[in-house]
Amino acid sequence: MDKKDTKYIDLNTTLSAVGKAVFVNFYYDFKNASLSDNVIAEKLLRENLNTKSDNQNFRIPRARHIFAEGNQLDALKIIIDSSRVDPMAREKARLILAEELVRTQAFKECVDERGFIEALNKSIVYTEQRESEYNNNPEPAKETRLIQTSRYQRSKKVSSNALLKAGFLCEVNAEHPVFVRKNSNDNYTEPHHLVPLFAQKDFPGVNLDREQNIVSLCSHCHNLLHYGADIDGVLYKLYIDRKDLLQLIGIEISYEDLRKYYL
Ligand SMILES: [Zn+2]
Ligand SMILES: [Zn+2]
Repeated sequence: MDKKDTKYIDLNTTLSAVGKAVFVNFYYDFKNASLSDNVIAEKLLRENLNTKSDNQNFRIPRARHIFAEGNQLDALKIIIDSSRVDPMAREKARLILAEELVRTQAFKECVDERGFIEALNKSIVYTEQRESEYNNNPEPAKETRLIQTSRYQRSKKVSSNALLKAGFLCEVNAEHPVFVRKNSNDNYTEPHHLVPLFAQKDFPGVNLDREQNIVSLCSHCHNLLHYGADIDGVLYKLYIDRKDLLQLIGIEISYEDLRKYYL
């Protein structure tokens, strides 16, 4: 963002009113819509030693306005570049920005994946010949270069194979309810890349779009993994079940590192 830009100037002014260090240190409180302004005011008073009691009234709505306008990432970037802000607060801003970028990528993955599932549902892959054995040969990622951005490919055949391998049941628990598809006699489950495709840059030379990395999930478990607050029970089980298969195609990852893609 250009420092002469009105958007930059406005945002910088708002941030200065909030206090740049305060914005960073209470970032997730300001972001949390379920916390009332009063609760945050009390917390600020308790934990922010430089705060006077009547200061809160203008800080909090201004901080929340930054989120309401969707300017929080730009705000973090301004803070990271502000040499007069406390170095600890700037470092914290860097960490939060990195976390937020993972969330942005995870959100894009949901959108791409949903589009892919719709295409998979429409296609007649279920009558095509499918592979019943894992091919564990190393394979580079297949990338589609678009004009401005590049995207990693999802193969319908590979996902379809993965669902077949799971017997068209949910891999979290084979007893989870599934229904029969409209266009075939198979049950409806959805393919999900355990190590998400946006993580591809962390696995050079390995294709993440392989059957070994794709789990078959019931609608409930799939939505839970993408949108749920408490995912560890489901994610850990899938990780333990797939760990060895992932290793066979060159994906070495700890549960802690996998978990970082599911912020
Ligand atoms: Zn998914
Ligand atoms: Zn399930």
